[in-house]
Formats: sequence, structure tokens, C-alpha cells
Amino acid sequence: MKVKVAINGYGTIGKRVADAVNLQDDMEVVGVTKTRPDFEAKLASKRYPLYVAKPENVELFEKAGIEIQGTIEDLIPKADIVVDCSPNKVGAENKAKYYEKAGIKAVFQGGEKKDVAEISFNALANYDMARGKSYVRVVSCNTTGLTRLLYQLKTNFRIGRIRATMLRRVVDPKEDKKGLVNGIVPDPVAIPSHHGPDVKTVLPDVDIVTTAFKLPTTLMHVHSLCIELKESVSPDDVISVLEQEPRIMLVSAGDGFTSTAKIIEFARELRLRYDLFENVVWRESVGIDGNDLFVTQAVHQEAIVVPENVDAIRAMFELADKKESIRKTNKTLGIQKVF
Ligand code: NAD
Repeated sequence: MKVKVAINGYGTIGKRVADAVNLQDDMEVVGVTKTRPDFEAKLASKRYPLYVAKPENVELFEKAGIEIQGTIEDLIPKADIVVDCSPNKVGAENKAKYYEKAGIKAVFQGGEKKDVAEISFNALANYDMARGKSYVRVVSCNTTGLTRLLYQLKTNFRIGRIRATMLRRVVDPKEDKKGLVNGIVPDPVAIPSHHGPDVKTVLPDVDIVTTAFKLPTTLMHVHSLCIELKESVSPDDVISVLEQEPRIMLVSAGDGFTSTAKIIEFARELRLRYDLFENVVWRESVGIDGNDLFVTQAVHQEAIVVPENVDAIRAMFELADKKESIRKTNKTLGIQKVF
């Protein structure tokens, strides 16, 4: 029996999670929701059974001639779990309004506060903690990127204090209503940014402080990290440890990966929607000065959390152990060493 998955909020994350779930042999998409009858709703209705997220908007869909199967209230009884991919903080409202009443499991995204769920989740860091849980929150794109890298480092080396700076894409490419054309915004101005505390929701024992800046770019985030080493380690040791993790992709400036623009150009050849599910670490950025390890990575914000959503579902239904779930997800999404 496949786990029946409903996607509530078929936006940037929702449509990618739907397609990823659709590739698995142990789960299936029973429906997706949209709030408005726009072109995305039209496309969604051709791929998946489409339901209306806001019941009061049914008439809008009927007037637009888009085939719908009902509302979120009709979809929930057909599902075993909802992956809530609605905008920041709306997931918590949906939980109170629908999921708790229906007694259905739910996965939330990183835009929700951590107390929306029983645990915050990253497949590498704490897969087993999600086993059998009813509510799980997949941490945000930046936190996922930081957590994967730090998990891999702390599992292999003794590390101390971490200082990390997030250089954040201001909005996603489609967001034409908001944006930043000129300037760099310290966000927040005072330390710390929320990313460090968020990493601690999945890796509680790391000592991390983060700062963050919004930049006028839409492609990717970039993280600059400085990690204290408590043992003698060479850059090659670090690179070989990072090479062992399929969800971390190492690229070289020497191969022409001189910017996020070049990484995305490469991804356009590699994947549908140029989705990069992996952290992208520059080999040349791995450097050691005294006791400090420096590393720079790029994060494709639209895609990095997608494999984690699939693994969260598997953990919550105890469909597979950590290793097997990650192996299946990686295989179906094409996550494998390219370089
Ligand atoms: P989005 O705006 O692209 O998509 C959200 C979708 O939810 C839209 O289709 C919207 O119409 C729909 N929606 C609006 N109100 C709704 C409601 N009441 N019920 C159900 N659906 C509703 O947003 P997104 O970027 O996909 O973000 C979704 C979640 O994922 C947020 O928590 C966000 O923080 C998190 N996240 C986003 C990114 C990113 O960079 N885009 C990365 C990681 C995590």
C-alpha cells in the first residue's frame, strides 16, 4: 500500500514536493491545492487531482473553467498525510483549522515556527526522531544547507565554534511583486540572524552564530562559514569527507563555476526546473588558517528541501530506515556525484 499524500499549497516548494513524491514507489500524490485559478492552477489540474485550498474560492475556479475535485476539506479524507507548503505562518493556521480536527499527519515547511511540529527535521541529522511522529517541520533552505554541511563535518571531525554569514537571494525568481533592485540589506542588522538558532533545532549541540544579508539576486543563497577545528585536519581531509555525502556537491572554480550564475547554468543542463537538491560547495573555498576551517557553499532555495520532505514522510510512516530512505530519494531525484 502506498502512502497517500496531499500537497496543500502548490507553489514553489509544493509543486516540487508533489513531483518528487510522484517518483517514489511507496507513496503517491492524491491531490494538490491552489488558492486561485491562475496559470499554475491550470497546469496543476493537468498533472494532479486539483482541489481548492480556500473553500470560499470555488466559484472563481468554476468561472475560470478549471476542473476541480473539491476543496481541501474533500481532499484530506482521501489522504494519509498532508505536506503543507502554504506561505509562512499559514501552515500553523491550516493545522488548527483542518489537520488537528481530521487527525491527519502533516509535514510543515521552514517558514513555520518550530513549535508547529513535534520535531524540526533534516534527514541526515535526525531522521530517526521523526519515526512515527504526527507533525514534522522540514527546516528552511538555509538551515537545511547549514545542517547538512555541519552534520557531515561534526560526524567526522571535532569542531568548536561556528561563525557563518548568509548572503541571501532576496526573493524567488517568480516573485515580481516584491524585490530589491539596488542595495544590500543586513537582515537583521543586529546579531544573530535566525538561522543559527534554527540549526540548533536539528543539531542541538552545535555552537553557532549567524549573520545574514539580502542581496539583489534570485538564483541562490551563498553561505560563508568559519568553523573552529579542535583537531589537526587538512583541506583534503575535509574535501574527502564532503565527497562521501551525495547531498553535497563539490564544484570547482577552475571548471568555470565562478558564481551562482554559472552553477545555475550548469543545473539548467542537469535537471527539470534547474533544481539543485544538493548543497553546492566550492572545492577551492575549503581552506584552513590556524584552527579555523573556511568553506563557502551555495544553496538553491527552491529545491534543497525537496528530498527532506520525501524522507520526512518515510520516517513518519516508518516505511524505511534512514539509509534506505535517503538512498531511494537520492536515486529517484537523480542525486548522485556528478564531479
Ligand atoms: P509560494 O508562495 O511559492 O507557495 C505557497 C502556495 O500556497 C501558493 O501556491 C499559495 O497560493 C498557496 N496558499 C496561499 N494561502 C494558502 C492557504 N491558506 N492554504 C493552502 N495554500 C495556500 O511559497 P513557497 O516559497 O513555496 O514557500 C512555502 C513554504 O516553504 C514556506 O513555509 C517557506 O518558508 C518554505 N520554504 C520556501 C523556500 C523558498 O525559497 N521558496 C525554501 C525553503 C522553504
